[in-house]
Amino acid sequence: MSRRAFVATGVSAGAAVAGVGAFAGSAARAAASGEAAGGALPPAPRAAGRPMPELERPLADSPERRLGWAVVGLGDFALNHMLPALGRTRHCRLTAVVSGNAEKARAVAAAYGVPASGVYSYDDFDRIRDDRTVDVVYVVLPNALHAAWTERAARAGKHVFCEKPMAVTEAECRRMIDACARAGRRLMIAYRAPFEPHNAEAIRMLRAGEAGAIREIVADHGRPLDPEKPADRWRAEAALAGGGSLYDIGIYSLNGARYLTGEDPVEVRATYRKPPGSPGPGGRPIDVEQGIAWTMRFPGGAVAHCTSGYDFQNVKRIQVMAERASLALDPATEYEGNRLIVTRERGREEPKLGESSLQFVGELDEFASAIRENREPRRGTGPEGLHDVRIMQRIYEAARTGRPVEVPPAR
Ligand code: NAD
Repeated sequence: MSRRAFVATGVSAGAAVAGVGAFAGSAARAAASGEAAGGALPPAPRAAGRPMPELERPLADSPERRLGWAVVGLGDFALNHMLPALGRTRHCRLTAVVSGNAEKARAVAAAYGVPASGVYSYDDFDRIRDDRTVDVVYVVLPNALHAAWTERAARAGKHVFCEKPMAVTEAECRRMIDACARAGRRLMIAYRAPFEPHNAEAIRMLRAGEAGAIREIVADHGRPLDPEKPADRWRAEAALAGGGSLYDIGIYSLNGARYLTGEDPVEVRATYRKPPGSPGPGGRPIDVEQGIAWTMRFPGGAVAHCTSGYDFQNVKRIQVMAERASLALDPATEYEGNRLIVTRERGREEPKLGESSLQFVGELDEFASAIRENREPRRGTGPEGLHDVRIMQRIYEAARTGRPVEVPPAR
């Protein structure tokens, strides 16, 4: 009997199992050599359905159901991190790119399957109003351009996802909130760290009371600024950056202390280590501060001690000292490879959590879900971004005057 004819006889799996041992071996050899086995052969394995397994991540939307995103500004962060992350989301897809460099825009569009109709320049951006493939405009330009581009996108009837810091001044932040409200569109500021698995676990533990009351937080963020690099050139110019290391990376210490305590600081004190105008690498003065240290007093009694610098090697860490546990996030806010070490009386533990790059996917999908569900995003609301800018302005004031400065409540 040929193998095909044998399988067609419908010999049951049970019969095959019963035939294990010498028979199964000889049958297999016989089948392999094409020789007649003279008895029942085991059936070939067949594909079979089974119930839906428990999914680690919910199913992704089909392409046509995903929200279309237009990315404004194709610089380092957009190209290296956010465009790849868009492709890993469940609810988003790239449908347009906006750039001042037509050649780069066309190359990026081609790489991501964006049609020519989805390629915009800064000058013809406003025609995006009629582009039904675009639901969200993602502003990833230098800080001083965030406000104007958010307003422009809202006027074009699009939801806006805007990079941190939200803008340079409180007044700009208010204009952004108002523009989106007037247009009936959602706004989210791109704070990725609370979506990062180690930070999310620290937030969960602290909210659940597992560590007891927070006493102190120490948070440091720094990296060397190299004004020769295109992505750092504007960071050294007050007119485009709005602030220095505090606006750029110190904001992670500030926002981190806010999401870890779940409170807003009531008072700040600060010292410039390298105030605006200090020499940068190569000796040329730099417009913005390169080193600042500050403390924030929280209403629940916790105090956060923070530093940020543009003149030391990469440090991105946050440590929470609480009544019953110490939580060390080190690194805390890298793109990849963050860690959480929890120390209790009984010893140290390092929980195994998801990969850090999920933070990008998490923030993008959160905004898409907020839009779909017609609600505010759970993190990175306009008022949260505005309050960080308000606090950073108070930190600068405290550093300039050498006096403690009260922070008014978030409004
Ligand atoms: P970048 O310099 O690499 O990119 C900026 C883009 O804006 C470039 O494509 C540049 O051509 C364009 N641009 C338009 N007008 C410009 C002008 N007048 N001057 C300079 N550039 C201009 O910078 P980046 O590192 O991608 O930062 C962009 C934004 O993203 C900033 O607001 C920054 O704070 C934010 N960012 C956020 C993260 C994060 O982890 N969330 C990380 C990096 C940067």
